[in-house]
Amino acid sequence: MGRLQKILIPFLGLVLAFWFYSARENFKPEMLKGKRVIVTGASTGIGEQMAYHLARMGSHVFITARTEAKLQKVVERCLELGAASARYISGTMEDTAFAERVVQEAGTALGGLDMLILNHVGTSYFGYFNGDVGHVRKLLEINFLSYVAMATSALPMLKESGGSIVVVSSMAGKVGFPFTVPYSATKFALDGFFSSLRQEFTIQNVNVSITLCILGFIDTDSAVRAAADVLLVAPAPREECALEILQGAALRRRELYYRYGGTRLPLLLRDWAAELLDYLVRSRYRLDAMKGTSPPTPQQPPSA
Ligand code: NAP
Repeated sequence: MGRLQKILIPFLGLVLAFWFYSARENFKPEMLKGKRVIVTGASTGIGEQMAYHLARMGSHVFITARTEAKLQKVVERCLELGAASARYISGTMEDTAFAERVVQEAGTALGGLDMLILNHVGTSYFGYFNGDVGHVRKLLEINFLSYVAMATSALPMLKESGGSIVVVSSMAGKVGFPFTVPYSATKFALDGFFSSLRQEFTIQNVNVSITLCILGFIDTDSAVRAAADVLLVAPAPREECALEILQGAALRRRELYYRYGGTRLPLLLRDWAAELLDYLVRSRYRLDAMKGTSPPTPQQPPSA
């Protein structure tokens, strides 16, 4: 007992000291005032909400997605909400040249860049893996390679501003999730690339932060349409999710978990009780509702 106390008390002291030390700066909306920000996948969902929050905080907002009519409306709303400026460019992230052009046009229009928020996601299916390798490749181009291309293109401007890269990922990019195999693969790839890049930035003293966002189930139209009948968890609000991402980005957090309890805590099991975590993930699904879904219908994955 005495020996246990000797170990336990210093250990608890260390944990508390770490917690206290890491209770860092608080977020203030002024942190994003006047910042020049690109948000991809901002015609709808979480990206759209991030654009509105940024507008309220007085940022320069540069958004992109494929659907021009939706982007126009988001830009109009951003201007109403108080954005320092709001612009859009439409196109598909299947095309790497387009991904790079977004960065160059934003840089020219805004005279530099402070934050690159990579959020778009290509359409996939929700169901058992159907063996379509071509689809995996296409999804990697949209969900992964375009993120790499944009970050690479933006790096000189971000180095100059001491800026930030924000990568929107998912629980499905940290632990295996059924029914979203191609999607999960693209999200794991993001973690590998951007976490390794962060290491190199540290070694090379590059003052550009990388925030990887690990999201659970969020109430965007596409996610709810695909998964609400199958997932046994309630989706979290997209407005709050969008704000959490921006706060984590402004505070230059390494990783951001939303909602914390439903994402960070289960992931603590990953290294010590992987099979238990796999079981917990599976238990979040109504598996009987998935019978007969192969070949699956094309849909946006639930990504939670
Ligand atoms: P969403 O509502 O489906 O929006 C996706 C965005 O990406 C739209 O603006 C869409 O606009 C754009 N997009 C789709 N295909 C594109 C392409 N080929 N080229 C360029 N843009 C394209 O998605 P969301 O639910 O807000 O998710 C946002 C991010 O959060 C994603 O990275 C997702 O993986 C992550 N996430 C979401 C959830 C969730 O439950 N919602 C959970 C975990 C992680 P257009 O169709 O106009 O191009």
